[in-house]
Amino acid sequence: MTSERTGGCQCGAVRYRFRRETFGVWACHCTECQKQSGSAFGLSMPFLKSELEVTGETASFRRPTESGSFTTCTYCPSCGSRLFHISDRNPAGGVLKAGTLDDTSDLVPIAHLWTSKKQPWVVLADGVPQFETQPDDLSILRELIR
Ligand SMILES: [Zn+2]
Ligand SMILES: [Zn+2]
Repeated sequence: MTSERTGGCQCGAVRYRFRRETFGVWACHCTECQKQSGSAFGLSMPFLKSELEVTGETASFRRPTESGSFTTCTYCPSCGSRLFHISDRNPAGGVLKAGTLDDTSDLVPIAHLWTSKKQPWVVLADGVPQFETQPDDLSILRELIR
């Protein structure tokens, strides 16, 4: 059954509605996510463009990725909150920056990426898949979300 989650940027100028059957997040400990979030790791929630409805003006910039592709990073031009990323390799969808959801109380990572760059004080739960870098094919992670 489809359910809906809502979210938006820090100042409220950009809002979104996100509809799908199952929601899941992975944590990425890479230095790009540390830089982007200004924190220890990023939380990524995969979406298809058809599932996400955004209102308000957004801005974006593009950056090269490890794999030699590019990612378009969308953010609020008023407050700078990063909202989602869409890779040129998979333009049908992307990853939502899950900390922008209105309700973040149930976000438990299904996997950890780039543990080779992880802050040493971040302790990971047993039994959760870990990748020293990231899987070549991120659909492996999407399969873990049920
Ligand atoms: Zn904003
Ligand atoms: Zn990352």
